Amino acid sequence: VSARIIDGQAIAAEIREEVARGVADLLILGTTPGLAAILVGDDPASQVYVGSKEKAAKGAGMNSWVHRLPSAASQQELEQLISLLNDDPAVHGILLQLPLPKGLDAEAALDLMDPRKDVDGLTTASAGLLALGRPGFVPCTPLGIMTLLERSGAQTAGAHSVVVGRSNLVGRPISTLLSLKSANSTVTLCHTGTTDLAEHTRRADILVVATGQPKAIKADMIKPGATVIDVGINRNEEGKLVGDVDFESALSVAGAITPVPRGVGPMTVAMLMSNTLKSARLHKVAGK
Ligand code: NDP
Repeated sequence: VSARIIDGQAIAAEIREEVARGVADLLILGTTPGLAAILVGDDPASQVYVGSKEKAAKGAGMNSWVHRLPSAASQQELEQLISLLNDDPAVHGILLQLPLPKGLDAEAALDLMDPRKDVDGLTTASAGLLALGRPGFVPCTPLGIMTLLERSGAQTAGAHSVVVGRSNLVGRPISTLLSLKSANSTVTLCHTGTTDLAEHTRRADILVVATGQPKAIKADMIKPGATVIDVGINRNEEGKLVGDVDFESALSVAGAITPVPRGVGPMTVAMLMSNTLKSARLHKVAGK
């Protein structure tokens, strides 16, 4: 038996089409959703990420701006820019591309951001709302994972979900989302302090892996028939992109699995578009 492949590329394309339709509806009402990205310094990976977000926003019919600051920019310059964008009514979403160059305080900068424009869901306010199960912006990768689960027909309610990795970007928020009443999963959160990881992962109906360790999860650590979501993006010795799960061997055990690439990755940008549309709609309703 071979696991069903959850096609993140196809599901992300669906989301992007839906967002483009939503943007067109808002245009008729006189609002163009706008996403402002802040890119500090010249990290090549960050430039690629910001470029793909800009392209996706324009592709969906949104306004998109990239504000570039030099790596020598001061905290004050960065914070002034965030304040300007907070006050700009054409901007519905602000994205601070991380990591920032050394010497800049990302947490302080993020916490200046208006939570109503925090389409990346990374401010303390957004994290607090998520922890309390209140409406707010959810970080794009965990939101993308929930969407993949829903659209691939995975049953979260009553399921035992195991999340491996507890980062603020992925592991912790996805474990919260799965435990909320809307998903109704029973959640185990594993990390490097977990004794006998395999004992936990083998009991997972839904296994979400976000460790940044290539092939950390082998076939014998997976429950037969489980839905496996591999968040990892790593490069192997040959320079090929690989996930955190040993995909080839997992195929014979899992019921459904996301590939790397074309799994979780494309969902992240699609959910950023979805969050920006959501923000523009909320601003419209609030009359701003
Ligand atoms: P972090 O390095 O911030 O966190 C990794 C987490 O995994 C930590 O909590 C760590 O535990 C835990 N961990 C590491 N090794 C093991 C192990 N052997 N057993 C159990 N737990 C372990 O990474 P991120 O969460 O930011 O990213 C994880 C992966 O997902 C990376 O490959 C990254 O590139 C990818 N990623 C992909 C995205 C996408 O769009 N598809 C978006 C974001 C990330 P501890 O806390 O104890 O150190």
